[in-house]
Amino acid sequence: MSGLGQPERLRRLVLSTRNPHKLAELSEILLDCELLPLPPQVELPPEDGLSFSANALIKARAARAATGLAAIADDSGIVARALGTRPGIHSARFAGPAASDAANLAKLIAALRDHDDRSVAYVCALAYIDENGVASVFEARCEGDLIDRPRGDGGFGYDPAFVPRATGPEDRRTMAELSAPEKHAISHRGTAARKLSNHLAATRSEPITRTLGR
Ligand code: IMP
Repeated sequence: MSGLGQPERLRRLVLSTRNPHKLAELSEILLDCELLPLPPQVELPPEDGLSFSANALIKARAARAATGLAAIADDSGIVARALGTRPGIHSARFAGPAASDAANLAKLIAALRDHDDRSVAYVCALAYIDENGVASVFEARCEGDLIDRPRGDGGFGYDPAFVPRATGPEDRRTMAELSAPEKHAISHRGTAARKLSNHLAATRSEPITRTLGR
């Protein structure tokens, strides 16, 4: 509720993705927003940025340009310490241009097989282009360890082999074994989306202030 006792309107944002998992997860996390799917005719440009945030901005800007609406985009992936920043921004196509999640995961498990250092982290950059075209990026990480034998049916991507550290040393469940709310509470995407929510809440009254101040 707003200070005047009126229910606040949900922010309408176009989510610039073709990944149904990201749409599902961000819809569950961003309860203060109405997420609109990217219209099917919008063609996304190649993600040729050198960082998660550059690629998130490319996607969010494309959605904003095509629809004229405020837009967000998530660029995310997994980084393995023993492999430098790999697979990093190439996580979705680590095993090839049209690789499945299972193939990407199998390649990462194989790449880490001979390494003692199993440290991995999920990274998310969430780009937001507001109604006036102003860009912001919210970033977050989720630390974990990669196991050799995937477990669990939840989540997507690398989740069946990702054991997050935030659940504590006694809890060896993978991300794919957590409930959706448990994942969102600690995930890179959940943390980045809560940063965006805080930003939206902080800027919510701006148009009203401008109107009253005229
Ligand atoms: P993008 O679409 O270029 O951002 O690539 C994202 C890729 O990173 C996905 O296809 C997954 O392979 C991986 N990824 C990102 N977030 C997650 C997650 O929450 N769980 C598992 N894998 C993820």
